[in-house]
Amino acid sequence: MKLAIYPGTFDPVTFGHIDIIERSSALFDEVIVSVAVDSRKETLFTVKERLEMLKEVTSKYKNVKVDSFKGLLVHYAEEKKASAIIRGLRAVLDFEYELQMALTNRKLSEKITTVFLTPGEKYSYLSSTLVREIAAYGGNLSHFVPPEVEKQLKSKNKT
Ligand code: ADP
Repeated sequence: MKLAIYPGTFDPVTFGHIDIIERSSALFDEVIVSVAVDSRKETLFTVKERLEMLKEVTSKYKNVKVDSFKGLLVHYAEEKKASAIIRGLRAVLDFEYELQMALTNRKLSEKITTVFLTPGEKYSYLSSTLVREIAAYGGNLSHFVPPEVEKQLKSKNKT
């Protein structure tokens, strides 16, 4: 049984994340998409809201589960007996930070390997930050997020 953890903030989940989830689910027996609960980070959506959206958009992938975690990612991954941590690499911009994290995590736990996946190029420019900004100014979101997420973004921006 090869299990992979795909951690992130997912504020909110975008087509870019879903691309990575789909690729991971084809590579591993089981994938846990896990929301990092970081109280220092200001987010638009609560952890509960982010989990609900993730559950909806991943329901068609039978070997994908959704969860959240607090504290060190490697501790959580060890607890779940995961063999891999999945991260998405969009562009060179992501590389330095991701490399630093992957190497640090390897120092903390030799058993867990970070696997980088690249999304389809049409999603390589996409980020949750961009999506939140487009939503704040009432732009068209249909190319960036699934309809369920678009609905949630619109209701957040009404208030
Ligand atoms: P974090 O705060 O952990 O970076 P994010 O939700 O922004 O949380 O991203 C989670 C993971 O998904 C990261 O590895 C990030 O590089 C990747 N990711 C984000 N957007 C995309 C995208 N458009 N295509 C591929 N990977 C992405």
